[in-house]
Formats: sequence, C-alpha cells, structure tokens
Amino acid sequence: EDSLSVTDPELHKAINDELRRQQQHIELIASENIVSQAVLEAQGSVLTNKYAEGYPGKRYYNGCEHVDVAENLAIERLKKIFDCKFANAQPHSGAQANGAVFLALLNPGDTFMGMSLNSGGHITHGLKISMSGKWFNPIGYDVDKESELIDYDNVEKLALEHKPKLIICGGSAYSRVIDFKKFRDIADKVGAYLMVDMAHFSGLVAGKGYPNPCDYAHVVTSTTHKVFRSARGGIILTNHEDLAKKFNTAVFPGYQGGPLMHVIAAKAAGFLEALKPDFKDYIKSVLANAKILSETLKNNGFKIYSGGTDTHLMLVDLRPFNVKGNLTAESLSNANITCNKNGIPFDTEKPMITSGIRLGTQAATTRGFGLKEFEKVGELITKVVKGLSENPNDNSKIEEEVRNEVIELTSSFPIYKNLK
Ligand code: PLP
Repeated sequence: EDSLSVTDPELHKAINDELRRQQQHIELIASENIVSQAVLEAQGSVLTNKYAEGYPGKRYYNGCEHVDVAENLAIERLKKIFDCKFANAQPHSGAQANGAVFLALLNPGDTFMGMSLNSGGHITHGLKISMSGKWFNPIGYDVDKESELIDYDNVEKLALEHKPKLIICGGSAYSRVIDFKKFRDIADKVGAYLMVDMAHFSGLVAGKGYPNPCDYAHVVTSTTHKVFRSARGGIILTNHEDLAKKFNTAVFPGYQGGPLMHVIAAKAAGFLEALKPDFKDYIKSVLANAKILSETLKNNGFKIYSGGTDTHLMLVDLRPFNVKGNLTAESLSNANITCNKNGIPFDTEKPMITSGIRLGTQAATTRGFGLKEFEKVGELITKVVKGLSENPNDNSKIEEEVRNEVIELTSSFPIYKNLK
C-alpha cells in the first residue's frame, strides 16, 4: 500500500513543513506541547477504524475487546494520577468535557459563575456567543485590579447575590495558584456545584507541582494536551459516584457519538508517561524555567501580570515598550519564536490587537531547554520587542538575527529525529 507521500504529496508536504516548523521554532504557546513517539504511534494506529459507542464492557457494537483494554488503561491511569475515584476519558476536547458537565448539571437558563474572559477565563466559561453564554446565564468574576489576583471576597459576594447552580474556577491565562478550598466554601454556602477546569495546570497537578483540585471540586475537567503532554482531548474526573453516572451519560449519548478510540489509546500512552517519576522532574523544570523567564523579562523592563507566575505560563504586559500584542507576536514569529497575543485584564485594546502576549515554558522544556536556555529566550524576546519598539515599520533585520540564533539553539535540542 502506498504511503501518504505517494498518494497525496500536497498534504504530505504540509505535514512535513509543520514538522520542520516545530523542529526549528521555539514553542512558547502556553497550551501546546511536544508529545512522545509513543503518543504519536498510538494516535496513528488502526484504532481509528473502530466504533465503540458506550463504555468498556457495555458497548453497542461488537469487536470492542481490544479497544476496551485501551480505554480501561486510560481510565485507571487517570484515577491513579489524580487520586480520584471516577474518570471519563472520552471527551473529544476540553470544550466537549465542559459542555458535557453543563449538560449533566444544568438546565437551559440556569445561572453559573466563571472567571470572565477579560481576567483569563475560557470561552466555554460563559462567552456570550458560546453555548455556555447563549443557553445559560453566566455571571463572570474578575481579578482584583490592585492585587491582579482572584478577588475571593468578590466571588463570594457575587455568589450570594446570584445564587449560581455551578461555580467554575480555572482558566487559560491565570498564572497563579487557585485556592480551591475557598472556592468550595463559597460553593457550599450557596449550594452550588464546584467545577475546576484544570486544562492549563493538569500536567502540573500530575507532576505534583500544583494542588490537586479533585480534593475539593465536585467535578474536574481538563484537556490532556497542554502541560499534561498527552494526546489532544478532554477528560472529566469526580469522586462522586452519582455524578460520575451523570457525566458518563452526558458524554455519551448526551453530547458525543462514537469515542475516538485511537485518541483514547494515545491519551493512555501519555498518561503512562505522567505516572513515571521523571514526569515530576519535568514539572519542576517547567516551573523553574517559567520563573527564570519571567525574571529575565522583568529585569529587561517588561511588566509581568501579577508580578510573576506560579505555573508554566505568564502574561507579559508590553505597554512599557509601547508595542501591541498582535504585532509583537508576529515579529517574534518571524524570528522563529511562537507565542500568542493576549489581552491583559482590563485591556483597552481590542482582542485582535491586545497589549500583551502569553508565554508558556512547557513545550521547550520537553525538548530539553533548562535555565540557561530560558534566560537566553528572555534575552531574544527582549531584542525583538526593543527592535519593534524602535522600528515599528520594519524589524526584519533584528528578526533575521534572532531567527539565526533560534535555529542554532533549537538544533542543539532536536525533536522527532526519526521523522522524515
Ligand atoms: N478550558 C480551558 C481552561 C482551556 O484553556 C481550554 C483550551 O484552550 C479549553 C477548556 C478547551 O479545550 P479544547 O481546545 O481542547 O476544546
């Protein structure tokens, strides 16, 4: 049988070009990572052919004995990693996991609370045009303008006022440790369920670098592909048997059809890696690298939102350099450093422009970058931003200089050497 390079050279080239891009760029997007050969192999396996509606041992189709093994491995590994009683490994993505929880716990029109998008919450936590915002009644809470941290007193005040049925914590651009106990106390006061969306920090939890929300929340959702470094997808965890049943029904048949068995197998492959002792070392390194990157940038004149980070990610306020997030991310991209523009809480710039960028250390740490390399990354970012600040119309000379340095640096930390 012919390989993709023979049957579809156009598509093959796009995939190969992407491989080359990943090899030669420093990846700083806080939601991405570099999965292992094992994860790639499982995801590219014949399990993609199998329909397996239902759950292990209770399927609607026959021939599921082998995919059952894969899904049970995923479930058991999740329970071990997060020390919880029930796990659903089927959600196709983080958004699907959140949608399934809404379906299980809320009725249309119900009030829930989530961190506002402005303060770093996710679109599935109540953005007006998302399902969560259109079919439910979201009440957003913000970070405090002074401390730049979650204002728990205000969360409590809003909860007492609006009596939500569900309170969500966790987000996409909040870089500090969240006090889950405080959230649970507030939820208990108003009789709400507490959901923690740990998509960004689930890998940190797995590597014992962040408190485990399963100890406090009624339900925990996550993606599996960010710091967690497994295959792309979602999960739902709980310690409550009655809720676990509701979530299983909500995922299938409530919200999804056939599970992606190749993805579930690939998730399981990644979960095994997260159980290995060296995953803790990886997480230690991710956190130490984030600290040195934020310190380097601060020393060079940037403002880091909330003054630093407890996680893999940080929000860099570019206003001291009088440059915008969109043009900065573009210029960095031209220099082979990839990140995303990101609004700073209470940003006066439009979402497609922004005053900031968001950076994360997890992907480059996977390829072996340590403190020395991240200090260098901080210097390279500074060079590009200063160049852009001085020469807003043409930063190409600096971009080329930095790009050459990045190519040299990334070639010392190769990835996917065996892929052609
Ligand atoms: N929840 C949070 C906090 C996220 O950051 C994300 C992804 O960015 C999601 C949910 C959604 O995950 P996915 O992109 O897999 O749907």
